[in-house]
Order: sequence, then C-alpha cells, then structure tokens
Amino acid sequence: YDDRDGKIWMDGTLVDWRDAKVHILTHALHYASSVFEGERCYNGKIFKSVEHSQRLLKSGELLDMTIPWTVDQIEEAKRLTLEANGLRDAYVRPLAWRGSGEDMGVAAKRNPVHLAVAVWEWGAYYGDAKFKGAKLDISKWKRPSPETIPHAAKAAGLYMICTMSKHAAEAKGCSDAMMFDYRGYVAEATGANIFFVKGGEVFTPIPDAILNGITRQTVIGMLRTKGITVHECRIEAADLEGFEQCFLTGTAAEVTPVGQIGDYTFEVGALTREIATDYEKLVRS
Ligand code: PMP
Repeated sequence: YDDRDGKIWMDGTLVDWRDAKVHILTHALHYASSVFEGERCYNGKIFKSVEHSQRLLKSGELLDMTIPWTVDQIEEAKRLTLEANGLRDAYVRPLAWRGSGEDMGVAAKRNPVHLAVAVWEWGAYYGDAKFKGAKLDISKWKRPSPETIPHAAKAAGLYMICTMSKHAAEAKGCSDAMMFDYRGYVAEATGANIFFVKGGEVFTPIPDAILNGITRQTVIGMLRTKGITVHECRIEAADLEGFEQCFLTGTAAEVTPVGQIGDYTFEVGALTREIATDYEKLVRS
C-alpha cells in the first residue's frame, strides 16, 4: 500500500514511500512499457543480484527501451534502498518504465525511461503450501508464442494473463495456476517455473516460451551436481498422470512443493524436500 513510512529509490534519489508517484500520462500505464525484477535479500545479501540487474537491462532492450543505468548503478541503488529501509531480509523490486513526455501515442522514443527500486518484507509466497504442497488450478490462458511477445523479458505486459489466471485460481481455492503454452505444452505458473519428478529423474519445460528463471537455472545446476538427471523437454497434459512429485521454483516462491494440479495429485516427496532445503541453505550461505 502506498501510505506508509519508508524510502523508495527513484531516478537516483531516495524519496519518501508515500511520495513515490507517477503522472497519469505515464506511457507504461497506457501501453505496458515497463519491465521489472523480483529479487530476495537474505542476511543482507541479494541472491544472484548481478544476474537480476543484467536481466532487467536485457528486458528493457527486448522492449526497445534503453534503461539509462548500468548494472553497477543498479546494484548501488538496491544497496541504498535496503539500507534506507533498514532491511537485511527483504523482497527487492526494481522497476523500469517509459514515462510521460512529448509522445502521447504508442511510439514514444522521446519519453524518458525511469527506474525505481522498492524493497519490502515478504514471507513465504505460497504461505503454508510451502510445507503441505500447493494446489494449482489449470489456467484457460496460454503462454503466447515468441512471435507474439518477447517471452524472455520480465515485462509487465506478460503478466496481464497471469493476474487473470491467478484470480480464477484463488476463486477456486487454489494457490496459483499452471499455464500451458500456445502449443499445449506445460509452461509455468503465473510467477514461477515448474518441475516434475518421476523414477528419480527430473523433468521441466524447455524455456522457449517461458521465463527462464534464475531460480530454475540454479535448481537445475544443483540437481545435476547431485548426479540427478534433468530433462528439459516437452511436457503434455497426458504426461501429468505419470509424475510422482511436482514443485515450483522462483525468487518469491523459492522451492515450493505442489500437491495438486487440477485433478492430478502429487506426493510431497523426498527429492522435492531435499532440493527445497538445499536451496534455502544456498541462498543464505
Ligand atoms: N516465471 C514467471 C512468469 C515469473 O514471474 C517468475 C518470477 N520472476 C519466474 C518464472 C521465476 O523466475 P526467477 O526464478 O528468476 O524469479
């Protein structure tokens, strides 16, 4: 909420939380010209901070929107924001957007690109599902083709169907929704990547129409280091029946077991528990 104490970094200065505002003619509000990051700071250190800053700049490039800050400057902005809010364990939200300016229409090269960083305390993203296993709905919305939208960008426009999917899921008593992609392959949840376990091996979608999450890449590395086979492959609805375990990965979600997707059920098994514990150790090390 906006009326509270705290500081938000905006375009190079720390402003009071309640004064961190934009104009109604902000291009991003009309045309979704904004990109963002989601990061977690553990014990005063942001996990994979530089990778997140690099992805933010890359997301901007993919939207033909040059963010006028360097990785080092973004790193410093995040540090200053955490310090100003006295937080060592927090969620970190950098946001870049095209602002208001001479251009009121779709094309807006002359409008400035802004950057802000907000931080706040955010516990387990899926609440106690983290232990019991989350219940997922199956979304009616499909992740779009890479020819429709730049799927590798963490861009606001990609989240419109995520919000609608998650609202529908919550209305049915689910924590989140799993989305298929435009081809009918299993894609991801609305803010997390998805993994399955069967016969001691792990299966996860090829990241060609989804966000290749930083947590996803970390977890694949952890599994392979343990000698566990990870298949990045096409997963169809018919495959869900055969999987024993399922879990989600993401900065906010961390590693969250899934107990149910639609009518398919999964056990919260040993491998899922082990990876969740290992990830927790890694981010705090
Ligand atoms: N997919 C989507 C749609 C997301 O919003 C997120 C969260 N950023 C992820 C996957 C996971 O990405 P990461 O591990 O980089 O947080």
